[in-house]
Amino acid sequence: MNCYFCGVELTAANNSPEHIIQKAIGGAIVGWELLCRSCNSGPASRIDKDFVRFTSYLYRMVLQAKPTSRVSDSLMGITESGEEVRFGPDMVMDTKVEIALPDGQKLAFTAPPDEAEKKAFKRLSQFQGKFSQLDPKRMIANAQRGKIKLDELIYFTNHNAKQSKVGGPEFFRGIKKIAVNFYLSKKHPQSYIQDIINQVKEGKPARRVISTFHYPMSHTIHELGEKEISHVMKLVGDPDLGVLYFYIELFNTSHSLILLDRYYYGPAIDEQYCYDVLIGVEIEKPIRLLFENRLLMLRSFDHEWNTNPQAEAAYRRTRKVLEDSLRVKGLIV
Ligand SMILES: [Zn+2]
Repeated sequence: MNCYFCGVELTAANNSPEHIIQKAIGGAIVGWELLCRSCNSGPASRIDKDFVRFTSYLYRMVLQAKPTSRVSDSLMGITESGEEVRFGPDMVMDTKVEIALPDGQKLAFTAPPDEAEKKAFKRLSQFQGKFSQLDPKRMIANAQRGKIKLDELIYFTNHNAKQSKVGGPEFFRGIKKIAVNFYLSKKHPQSYIQDIINQVKEGKPARRVISTFHYPMSHTIHELGEKEISHVMKLVGDPDLGVLYFYIELFNTSHSLILLDRYYYGPAIDEQYCYDVLIGVEIEKPIRLLFENRLLMLRSFDHEWNTNPQAEAAYRRTRKVLEDSLRVKGLIV
């Protein structure tokens, strides 16, 4: 086998374990004989890095919601009314502090409870020049403090992006890479998907749309368990329809379909994988992608993506399951 990125022959010395789905979003299966060590840690990891920021905030929630997990990192969120909330490593919610300035303005910030005073001093020191008689100690003593009430849904975010968006070339490049990983890990010939491999490598969009969000109105792809939060993959080679395609669902929110080969007349392929990231087990169940005919199948790719009420509903469900788990653990109220 050769590295699908640079083509070098893979040996015991340069072979490397590649997470089929990125580890940073909870991917649990590893494939060998996919990438050489230098591609895996170099260009391929940069694709992963760009990609995981779209969904890593969900995985941070999963990590904290896991029944067995210890909370180790801080978590940012934004409430539906637009209020920013942050939880410290111990999941203590930040205190909101409001200090009245001499000119009537308000200095407002949030900080972990035991750091609020230090932060207030630091912030007030910036105003020492502006106001001659500033008494930080007294001002801090008089400051309004309050806990942010969490009686509404929170959109959890990562540290860098206020609101995570899904879609666009970087997102689909990462999805295509997962598709290539999954397909090649099953030892299917590289020749059928060389175009996609090139797109993953070069980052150039395809001439024709080959990636789309997929929320069929006509049928349910799979039945979700009540508290299931899973990654789902399905690879189908259908010589009757003449297409080779890949479906992936991450955290049961983003549902993507990738057309790997528009003219596929190779052997029939039907391979799937479902992994519950919350409890860490593989699930076996029917996963159905039904396309009546070739035209309808290809019509799915008329648009790169479209917004769909089902997409919003899927996202709300995932958030609710995760927030319920956090609530059960007493991490949010
Ligand atoms: Zn390589």
